[in-house]
Amino acid sequence: MSTINIKEPSVVIREKRLGTINAFTGTASEIVSRSAKGELKDCKRKFSQCLGCNQQQAFCQLAMIRDAVVINHAPIGCAGEFADFNFTYRVEQSRRQLPPQLGRYYSTNISEKDTVFGAAKKLEETIRLAYEREHPNAIFITTSCASGIIGEDIEAVADAAAEELGIPVVTCNCEGFRSKIWTTGFDAAYHSVLRGIVQPSEEKSNKINIINFWGSHVFDDVIRRFGYEPRYVIPFSTVEELRHISDAVATIHICPSLSTYMGAGLSQLHGVPEVLVPPAYGVAGTDRWLRALGTILGKEDVAEEIIKEGHEKYVPEIDKLKERFKGKRAYVTAGAAHGQALITLLSELGMDVVGAAVVFVSLYVTLIVTFESGMRNLHWPGLPESGVKDSPASVTHVTVSTL
Ligand code: SF4
Repeated sequence: MSTINIKEPSVVIREKRLGTINAFTGTASEIVSRSAKGELKDCKRKFSQCLGCNQQQAFCQLAMIRDAVVINHAPIGCAGEFADFNFTYRVEQSRRQLPPQLGRYYSTNISEKDTVFGAAKKLEETIRLAYEREHPNAIFITTSCASGIIGEDIEAVADAAAEELGIPVVTCNCEGFRSKIWTTGFDAAYHSVLRGIVQPSEEKSNKINIINFWGSHVFDDVIRRFGYEPRYVIPFSTVEELRHISDAVATIHICPSLSTYMGAGLSQLHGVPEVLVPPAYGVAGTDRWLRALGTILGKEDVAEEIIKEGHEKYVPEIDKLKERFKGKRAYVTAGAAHGQALITLLSELGMDVVGAAVVFVSLYVTLIVTFESGMRNLHWPGLPESGVKDSPASVTHVTVSTL
């Protein structure tokens, strides 16, 4: 994983940062060995993109910050996701007993004429209008293919507006054509938050960052059991809360496909350690995850207590299920990190996992396949030795597709 450089306005795309590919057909051992040698790469072909645009993924994080405005510097067609995310924003507000509020999303509505004569003035006007209407505590400007192609100095517009308004005005360079890997958009949003909002902390708090979408607060009990408070970011955070996420004692990922960039950024820039084992799926996976968290917190004894209690409570029930699943065949199709964790979970339940189709594979998640499935004896810096075994592959074929 490359160094996070917040002096650069644009995030490094996942193809370069993680060696992510979105098309591979072959055996599991092949993808693992080629990944270990750094030989995984997509075939040369004309640009193709599907599933989602980087801009939408950036938007899904920035649009849920409770007191920020997002301005999409783009033709109006790129704003198609505004309604979707506003719906999610409203539904999840009520689930969290937050006061109802519409999403504060604006488009500069770049026209054909603007692409010839320039759209910077429109952006300046939109920033002022949004500020007057909303009085936000930060403004994010998401870019688009059109604003990227005309190549105006959006950074200069943002800097001038920040000085005029006295709040952070931060660009988020997430043009759809920047990357074939749509999750680069998540990284673009985190890059903006890291460079424009997060401040260094003088003291550690008792908080653990959980980088999340807008799902349930499933980690509350376990985090409190360790004696810490959970802090879910980015959706439903305020700008002020985001300013202080550098004071956490650890970072947890709900989904590594989402949040490796934020975890790495907080670790590299602010020394916040992250739990870097695969998600807590299955008995062995959950034990390993709890031990990793316990080690970071210096509370290995608490981790062992939780594991013991969990085994007593759940393993007898799981054993009964194993009888029913024995001999059943399974094929997994899911997002990258969860798909690969599911392979392990199904194997643990006694199923015969005959294959998997996951959305994309990057160096990080490929290592998770290896780690979980024990497919080959792979050694890689940072990979926990304890999980690496030289055992036969339980998964024999991997298809990575753009779906
Ligand atoms: S930024 Fe580009 S890929 Fe994304 S919605 Fe707009 S035109 Fe489409």
